[in-house]
Amino acid sequence: MEISEKAPAKLNFSLDTPFRHLDGEPEWKMVMISIDLADYVHIKTRTDTNQITVRTDSGFLPCDHRNLAFQAAKKMQSLAQTHEGVDIYLDKKIPVAAGMGGGSSDAAAVLRGLNKLWALNFTLEQLAKIGLEIDSDVPFCIYSRPALVTGRGEIITPLKDLEHLNLVVAKPKDSVSTPTILKRIDYEHLTHQDVDGVAKAIMEDDYPQMIKKMGNTLEPLTSKYHPDILKIKQKMLSFGCDAAQMSGTGPTVFGICRNHSRAVRVTNSLRGFCREVYLVRPYSLKD
Ligand code: ATP
Repeated sequence: MEISEKAPAKLNFSLDTPFRHLDGEPEWKMVMISIDLADYVHIKTRTDTNQITVRTDSGFLPCDHRNLAFQAAKKMQSLAQTHEGVDIYLDKKIPVAAGMGGGSSDAAAVLRGLNKLWALNFTLEQLAKIGLEIDSDVPFCIYSRPALVTGRGEIITPLKDLEHLNLVVAKPKDSVSTPTILKRIDYEHLTHQDVDGVAKAIMEDDYPQMIKKMGNTLEPLTSKYHPDILKIKQKMLSFGCDAAQMSGTGPTVFGICRNHSRAVRVTNSLRGFCREVYLVRPYSLKD
């Protein structure tokens, strides 16, 4: 039996970390949205072996237990108490180590896919709980629709769809290691964000307030080591985006335009400075 699942990338419209837990894990407060830049995860169950295999068209990714899609399959295999194996093929479109949650979204797609193939009937809430053991972004990726995300990533409050917005996404050539950035956070000197204000503006369809309140607490930290981030952000703003900021722990930068033709202009102008530029829309996974 086989199935293909779409695994959309995510962006952080607002990102803050109020404190670090005693075990070293950050507490999160974020507004996250999914976008229609997506990996496609092809999953096939096998009765002739209990092995899990992962293949991908990306040369940079480990295909063993370090791959988050592999970890997701392993968890489902054990919960299903099955001797069936799984072949996974990752058709990667989301840049790796970019702050767009590609690995987490692949893992969420495997959880959703195997839930259907093995008729396990877990609810999305249950899948999100299983996903949290893999990575803090997996619970959000299970739903893949706009949300306020708090706790260690497990408290998901749905927000209104934003499908009318135009988003220009630029991935600078550097890759960023999320654990390295998280270790460098100096909680004494963080500038915090009005994350609730962004969530409220989305719920009230208040675009000017959303733009005004957006921000990423980690942007000054990552851009200290990757100065291209601020250069691209400045270009996005000067080319006409209504707002621009880094996503996740970076280095991806995105800009927002309400007007589509302006977004096309910004995209074309940016291509002279950055090789990987995408013009995308927010995306909400349907039930
Ligand atoms: P986040 O914003 O959640 O920190 P990211 O976009 O910065 O995510 P990913 O692309 O998810 O980062 O990859 C981070 C690391 O995870 C990479 O170094 C990669 O080797 C590893 N990884 C494991 N599985 C995957 C996968 N299926 N796709 C991408 N990366 C994966």
